[in-house]
Amino acid sequence: MAEVILDHVWKSYGGNLWAVNDFNLTIKDKEFMVFVGPSGCGKSTTLRMVAGLEEISKGAISIAGRVVNNVPPKDRDIAMVFQNYALYPHMTVYDNMAFGLKLRKYKRAEIESRVREASDILGITDYLHRKPKALSGGQRQRVAVGRAIVRKPKVFLFDEPLSNLDAKMRVQMRAEIIKLHARLEATMIYVTHDQVEAMTMGDRIVVMKDGVVLQVATPLDLYENPANLFVAGFIGTPPMNLFEGVIRRAAEGWIFDGETLQVALQPDMQDKLAAYAEKKVVMGIRPEHVGSPVAENTVGAPKIKARVDVVEPMGAETYLYMTAGRHTFIAKIDPHRRCAMGNELHLAFLNAKAHFFDPATTSLIV
Ligand code: ADP
Repeated sequence: MAEVILDHVWKSYGGNLWAVNDFNLTIKDKEFMVFVGPSGCGKSTTLRMVAGLEEISKGAISIAGRVVNNVPPKDRDIAMVFQNYALYPHMTVYDNMAFGLKLRKYKRAEIESRVREASDILGITDYLHRKPKALSGGQRQRVAVGRAIVRKPKVFLFDEPLSNLDAKMRVQMRAEIIKLHARLEATMIYVTHDQVEAMTMGDRIVVMKDGVVLQVATPLDLYENPANLFVAGFIGTPPMNLFEGVIRRAAEGWIFDGETLQVALQPDMQDKLAAYAEKKVVMGIRPEHVGSPVAENTVGAPKIKARVDVVEPMGAETYLYMTAGRHTFIAKIDPHRRCAMGNELHLAFLNAKAHFFDPATTSLIV
């Protein structure tokens, strides 16, 4: 069992600023956990504290039931893969992978069998005699992963391992790491600033900002139920549309009143939103819930009138950049629907899928 527990972990590099602010999380045995957030939010610092490369200012980290605050990195039963690969340039691929095992005085036959097994898994057996400079970026990254695999650690730590690869190789390596996780059945913690990487790889995702954990959830749950405005805007491409307005009681019932954009509130949302009567809220709705085939085919979905500013045909769908008075938003529509810049369209608005946020706290209301 390699559960990793971060128990009220804080990190300061000096001064009053907390790079990591009360990080609390249990990572389950065999879980693939992703830390995601913009640059500087504290994700690497947190990972490095798990690795033992940074001291923990407050709190405790345990790995497989043992508090490791004072355990040196080499005794934590972890292996880390870095963004820059950190390979020894003068050593062959084989020696790079074998090095850690030699240091730990493993027998030669055991080293050989582990390196062969890892290189088979990663498809780098043909390159074992080469030096890193004779490898492509993707191959180097495989060697770095191989060096972690041969250790058979309880926990794998990845710090932006795909950032130096081109877009195509990144997608390929992403799939390989997912397969590797299934095969090795190890606990993995993976740091990235890329929300697509986070969504496609993680069993669960931790979204961080300014050293604070904003939400921990499965990819779909983050997407469908963002806990606050930051997560709503950070997860998903194109991002969730956000509209400022006021909750009002109109003749026809409760509405979101954004002046040029008025939307009836679903009955099940009214209770919570009634407390915001005459107060400002932010309404969020994903682009696929405005003007999409699903929205257009939903009986009773209100229509909103807006002008087309830009048409972006993506093939499977078309993105429209729209303006309705003081609001701008993005709609994902059927690619065969005719429209051009400057057109006025009436787009179905799937109000059952809208989210409402408190602008003061940024938290989700309903
Ligand atoms: P991320 O990995 O999310 O980009 P980091 O964990 O690297 O963020 O950094 C979190 C915060 O801690 C940032 O404000 C960064 O400037 C600061 N920081 C990171 N490493 C150091 C360091 N060695 N000394 C001082 N401040 C640091």
